[in-house]
Amino acid sequence: MTPPNFLNAILAGRSNGYLCFPGISFAKPKCDADSMQLSIENVTKSYTTPEGPVEVLRGIDLTVIAGESVALTGESGSGKSTLLHLAAGLDAADSGKVMANGRDISRLDEGDLAQYRRKEVGLVFQQFNLVPSLDVAANISFHAKLADRHDARWQAELMEKLGLSALSRRYPEQLSGGQQQRVAIARTLAARPGMILADEPTGNLDEATGDAVLDLMLTLSRSAGCSLLLVTHSERLAAKLDRKVLLRQGRIAT
Ligand code: ADP
Ligand code: MG
Repeated sequence: MTPPNFLNAILAGRSNGYLCFPGISFAKPKCDADSMQLSIENVTKSYTTPEGPVEVLRGIDLTVIAGESVALTGESGSGKSTLLHLAAGLDAADSGKVMANGRDISRLDEGDLAQYRRKEVGLVFQQFNLVPSLDVAANISFHAKLADRHDARWQAELMEKLGLSALSRRYPEQLSGGQQQRVAIARTLAARPGMILADEPTGNLDEATGDAVLDLMLTLSRSAGCSLLLVTHSERLAAKLDRKVLLRQGRIAT
């Protein structure tokens, strides 16, 4: 599907929120909210194409309990990105419910939906979507500031954990793909979401770098009790998560 224009979405108020890191080596931030439980209930979604309607999702039932990490797998074109965008509130289902902590997000008005995108979900896409004119530190703080969750100390800790401290004054074009992706992950974590929705976040990294980046994301989200729904093509990466589900012919097959 056409990826949403990430920057426009953020500027329209669609940024991230919320994550709690209770302990271990993280002094900050405070735990402001519960990690998110996501329940997708009998969701359908079709697209109109020049060849006629395409039924992409034909009745999806999927629950990610708070703190769980779930890998969403399936062939190219099976609807993984579509499902993630519905969960993120970037697109609406034709029928069924997307419940976040017990609230049906399709029933939220535009303002509450913007808050949902801003405070509760954090998105990591394969395209890094960094702002070219901002340096690393400013890219990371950008979403957190929009979400009213900027915390300099927390940001510094994240940058250290992700090996970005020495790169803070560089611009995106001065970074490797793996470094850019770590900035994108730091940016999401900095705004403290209750759930991370990640769409093939390591898909354009080499295997070793991709594995290292995913391990970091898992460590950080697990230590936070933060829920994670991760789209991946890779069985090897999927096996690192708590559970794997397969999307096939518009339904969850496992
Ligand atoms: P995946 O992420 O699993 O590769 P997608 O969710 O991107 O799959 O796409 C699922 C199907 O929906 C594909 O057949 C794709 O062509 C179609 N599709 C996605 N977005 C649109 C759109 N905006 N308009 C028409 N068809 C779309
Ligand atoms: Mg996709």
